[in-house]
Amino acid sequence: MADCLFCRIVNREIPASIVYEDERVLAFNDINPQAPLHALVIPKRHIERLTDLTPDDDAIVGELARRAAAIASAKGYADGGFRTVFNTNADAGQTVFHVHLHLLAGRRLGWPPG
Ligand code: AMP
Ligand code: ZN
Repeated sequence: MADCLFCRIVNREIPASIVYEDERVLAFNDINPQAPLHALVIPKRHIERLTDLTPDDDAIVGELARRAAAIASAKGYADGGFRTVFNTNADAGQTVFHVHLHLLAGRRLGWPPG
């Protein structure tokens, strides 16, 4: 989608600090990190929000989760722990309407979240 920020990152129209890429998935550091590790793991294909998922998307959502865990492990955070979050719509604070899995690690994360 031309006017989607994360599609523009996928298309290299906007720079990002990329931590992982393959044919279907991109991961990059959040521009406003909330923890020592704060990456966003996204499908390259534009999907606005979790409520738009169809059964055809089951595989890509699995890839996002598996990739987030792999990044956390590769950066040494798997044993200490990490958090993965999808924000959906206003009450959860979704600001970018291209599905993204937040990966946070490197500090004690409070629960329940704010
Ligand atoms: P959400 O509020 O769940 O929609 O998350 C959107 C996230 O995208 C926020 O954590 C922002 O800090 C992050 N963000 C916004 N613009 C950029 C950008 N250009 N590069 C990296 N992360 C961004
Ligand atoms: Zn998009």
